[in-house]
Amino acid sequence: MILVLDNKITTNQKAKITSQLSNDGCITREITDAGQTLIGIIAKNKKTAADYKRMKGVADVRIIKTSHKLVSRGFKSQDSLVKIGNVVVGGDRIVVIAGPCAVESHAQAMGIAKEVKKYGAVLFRGGAYKPRSSPYSFQGMEEEGLKILAAVREETGLGVVTEMTSPAQAELMEKYVDVVQIGARNMQNFELLKCVGKMSKPVVLKRGLASTIQEWLMSAEYIVAGGNNNVILCERGIRTFEPYTRNTLDLSAIPVLKQLTHLPILIDPSHATGIREKVSPMARAAVAAGADALMIEVHNDPDNALSDGPQSLYPEQFGELTRDLYVIAPVVGKQLDFDYLKKSEIAQMNGGGAKTAAFIGENGDYSHKASLSYFGDDVTSIPMKSYRDIFNGCASGSVEYGVIPVENSLSGSIHENFDLLQEYDLKIIGEVTIRIKHGLIVHESADKNSIKTILASPPAFSQCKNFMDQSPGAEPQPVKANTSAVRHLKESGDITMAAIGSAMAADIFDMKVIEDSIEDNPRNFTRFAIIAKEYKGKKKVGKTSIIFSTGNKPGALFEVMKLFSNAHINLVKLESRPILGKPWEYMFYADLEADVLSDALAPMMAELKDKSEILRILGRY
Ligand code: PEP
Ligand code: MN
Repeated sequence: MILVLDNKITTNQKAKITSQLSNDGCITREITDAGQTLIGIIAKNKKTAADYKRMKGVADVRIIKTSHKLVSRGFKSQDSLVKIGNVVVGGDRIVVIAGPCAVESHAQAMGIAKEVKKYGAVLFRGGAYKPRSSPYSFQGMEEEGLKILAAVREETGLGVVTEMTSPAQAELMEKYVDVVQIGARNMQNFELLKCVGKMSKPVVLKRGLASTIQEWLMSAEYIVAGGNNNVILCERGIRTFEPYTRNTLDLSAIPVLKQLTHLPILIDPSHATGIREKVSPMARAAVAAGADALMIEVHNDPDNALSDGPQSLYPEQFGELTRDLYVIAPVVGKQLDFDYLKKSEIAQMNGGGAKTAAFIGENGDYSHKASLSYFGDDVTSIPMKSYRDIFNGCASGSVEYGVIPVENSLSGSIHENFDLLQEYDLKIIGEVTIRIKHGLIVHESADKNSIKTILASPPAFSQCKNFMDQSPGAEPQPVKANTSAVRHLKESGDITMAAIGSAMAADIFDMKVIEDSIEDNPRNFTRFAIIAKEYKGKKKVGKTSIIFSTGNKPGALFEVMKLFSNAHINLVKLESRPILGKPWEYMFYADLEADVLSDALAPMMAELKDKSEILRILGRY
């Protein structure tokens, strides 16, 4: 059952509840879900819901009817996020795990790791203990293989995933790897499940060869009940009567699981199909069906691989696949981020300690999502009322970072922020792009036909033009930020009103999304700049943002462009804005794919200084 704690519970009352639960011998799990503090309990006594409801500080008691309790949606309505270093499985970014079936040598593992990293993998896989059908097949390099995996992490920065086949390996796994995998053959090895339940590492739990979804969830429950909440479910194909493919990939498990559990879902199309050519189509379908992550076998010499060569992609094929996934992911509100690891490194260098990041709007706004996407929960995201407040906060040091939208792929630039960047002496230290997926949000009892007014920010209206055109009966009412619209809607109690916003906002305000993805085009992204007073730490620079002005003479801008072209610098953005206080004179904002302070570009910079009246580097990141 779930104890819903009173919002005004005192520390004393809470301490009494926890000590009572411990005396009753309950397994307990405390979480915050949709703004409420909940304690999930597995009671091993005769106490009833009514007994617990009588305790002071308990607002309500809910019964979970399913046999998988802690992993059920009934216990936790929000998706669980599993953190592996800087990588988060279960969020908006598709996590791609890739590598060979087995670690065969230092050179093989390192070579493949570098290739898959180049093509967008953020975790590396490789078996060191291989459960093989035949005792005469290659059994894995064992501890030597784990050491190679640790070396791969050291050199590439990729977290490593490997299979654990016996509780006796637990100590080595804790020492060398980042994620332990429970293989299909061991899904119901309950001693092994209990063992990983006590480990500190996240667990990939593969579905058994012939296990039902219910059995699989019960195995996950073993791990979570043991104390390890970081479980990722991996569908890798099940045994059916169909012999053409190695197994049958049960893609329908994705929507089924999304309803039954809050745990993230990983799809392994390599073991599911067993045939190289079939891997990419099923990987693409898995992302389209809502998978959170993929695990793909990749080998640089599959013909000579010691295991699973026929199902391993060549690195280039893997590269083609991730390019396709990049295009597919936005359709389902996710994204594949080729800069994932690089951004996380920057966030970490500038992070550490109790840090804060300001964003505009309220919790659940897209700026909040951007802040969480960039910093994770290592940094506290603080809502602010205006962009200027964010700039002031950073300048005065009351917050460390600001997260400001600079452009949207459908509605264009957010000019106010370009002007503020010009005005304030702050640095851009990074950027993050997130997919904007708008929903039409209403009160629980409202229906679409009764909607008379729709609240949204002006950019949200402009991204949902087609939807608005098709809703002539509803009057648009612009508000400052999307989530303010949802709050306004909530507070009004008006069932004839709707708001455009994120599913996260609907969740926070306990409202209903009646229509999802109402933006004109699924390739709706907003790019946010991360601003701060100064850079901290050293980092690899791939991009520079500058502002410059040229003299008011023929060809002046062309002369500057020629400098970039001669230096082979890719210009990814150019925007002009009026110079404050100088009518009809313009400042240019440019994003360059280069580090303009590198030695090689020093001559170009000298010429640029010469040709510009004003030149300022806004940020290198
Ligand atoms: C593997 O991932 O290499 C593996 C052995 O997988 P499964 O347990 O799904 O067969
Ligand atoms: Mn394999």
